[in-house]
Amino acid sequence: MNITILGAGAMGSLFGGLLAQSGQQVTLLDINDEHLAAIRSDGLLLATDSGERRITGLHACRPEQATGHPDLLLVFTKTLHTDSALRSVAGHIAGHTLVLTLQNGLGNAEALSQHVAPQQVLIGMTNWPADMVGPGQVHSHGQGMVRVLAPGSRERNASQEVAAVLDAAGLNCAVDPQVWTSIWEKVAFNAALNSLCAATGCTVGQLDAAPEGVALARSIVLEVVAVARSQGIELDAQGCLDSVAFAIAHHRTHKPSMLQDVLAGRPTEIGSINGQVLERARQAGVPVPHTETLLGLLRLIEKRAAS
Ligand code: NAD
Repeated sequence: MNITILGAGAMGSLFGGLLAQSGQQVTLLDINDEHLAAIRSDGLLLATDSGERRITGLHACRPEQATGHPDLLLVFTKTLHTDSALRSVAGHIAGHTLVLTLQNGLGNAEALSQHVAPQQVLIGMTNWPADMVGPGQVHSHGQGMVRVLAPGSRERNASQEVAAVLDAAGLNCAVDPQVWTSIWEKVAFNAALNSLCAATGCTVGQLDAAPEGVALARSIVLEVVAVARSQGIELDAQGCLDSVAFAIAHHRTHKPSMLQDVLAGRPTEIGSINGQVLERARQAGVPVPHTETLLGLLRLIEKRAAS
């Protein structure tokens, strides 16, 4: 399969590297010139639980330099850059190109549908972890999986083909008709932990320094569960609370990406997580005071950083 990765940071490089290693033809598109230059000169240095290797043979360039028309375009920018990134590759996308988003948050399918026909859009969720450790270098420790679905049922074959390709690359991927449940469960987790850590500066483990931290996380999870229910999606509330409690107990030093963005003075993905939950909550008349407050705090933090 001829695959282009749009946004080749931590996740895009991990997926692109593993797909290239499994024999697919992969192009990485990014706007980080230092990262692209390192990959072009030395290959991608990828460290996973299977060890460290240098993956060569990846084509790496800026979006406006992309040539040809891929079979699959995998979007892995942060969600706030989806629109500008897709605009820059408009000429690279053909009628046969499938466009898959595995980004966090809600509203990603709608964002892709602004640029391609709905039958070209695939959605999904992944819990593989990845970190950029330097130009051309990505670490991913732990295990994960990918779940994908073509929202239009006519495209079932396409999603099966894409899932098979990702699975053969070792990414543990399957088509999942219940993918919206997985997407919302991850939103519940991120709406609680990412936004609380980003607003307070706490690592995940520091959230239990005061009982109020744990209580806030719990309230946000339950708000997201209620909003999901209003959209016809039944989440396992106890399972979501257990995941958050597990992370607080076991991933104590972890700094969620939203906290890393705040510390670096960058805008965050709060809009596609708490922001999208609030939008749906308002339409459905579901009160989400904690989710809304965290959204407001993060918006203030972002504005302060930008001024
Ligand atoms: P990242 O910041 O490491 O990578 C994003 C990349 O997009 C960067 O390299 C950036 O230069 C590039 N980019 C920005 N604008 C662009 C444009 N216009 N054209 C092309 N490239 C552009 O982020 P990440 O951690 O890889 O996360 C990507 C997405 O995956 C996010 O939605 C995130 O929430 C989700 N996610 C991340 C993880 C993780 O562990 N890192 C896990 C699951 C899901």
